Amino acid sequence: MNPQLKLLVSLQKIKDSAMVLEKSLAAIPGQIKGGAGFRDEKQKLLKEAQDEIDALKKKRRDLESAVQNENDHMAKIKVKLPNVKTNKEYQAIIAEVDVVKEKVSKIEDQELEVMEILESKEKALPAIKKACQEEEEKFKAYEKKKAVEAERVKAELEGLALERAKITDHLEKAWLKKFDQLTKAREGVAVVELLKNICGGCHQHILPQTIVNAKIGKDIQECSSCLRLLYWVEESEEEQAPK
Ligand SMILES: [Zn+2]
Repeated sequence: MNPQLKLLVSLQKIKDSAMVLEKSLAAIPGQIKGGAGFRDEKQKLLKEAQDEIDALKKKRRDLESAVQNENDHMAKIKVKLPNVKTNKEYQAIIAEVDVVKEKVSKIEDQELEVMEILESKEKALPAIKKACQEEEEKFKAYEKKKAVEAERVKAELEGLALERAKITDHLEKAWLKKFDQLTKAREGVAVVELLKNICGGCHQHILPQTIVNAKIGKDIQECSSCLRLLYWVEESEEEQAPK
């Protein structure tokens, strides 16, 4: 094989590995975001539970002050009692007091109801908090695992960059330029295997003369359709390759 083509094939293999790694690295932020789903859900439930408890507490305070107001009102009515002169006046005041008493009783019933709901909600809160905490810990562990993974992938990419540099040192500038242009234009694939008479990149038929030349391996051949560089792997070479 042409020595420059040999280098180009190696360069393509590095590019292939780098693309896989870059893809997995790019996927990590999305995976972390996806992993936060359960935690966010539990946090939402906790917030809802806490908001509900706050609302119930406010309602209880409002009802308490309503009872206080009615009791003040009743006291004011009762103040009139010592000055009552007729039975009719007396009956009117008692009737007024009864109305207020009725109101207080209704408010107190509501208050009781609110307190019962509040109690049950407060009882349920620790379990919700615990579930929330557990999801948070799970997510943090996942996030950490992903951060470690990202670092490992970055290190591998750095290793590949070094390998690439070693190869490009020996590669003619014109070929390097062509390789870089082709990878940009052709989804990262610049050098492909010639598969019988088909281009390994675009799967178009290759001209017979190009196939002959590729097999001789003296000059570097390209696909007339996609312009990728072609290399030929001897079948006997494959057979002899260690399994
Ligand atoms: Zn092609």
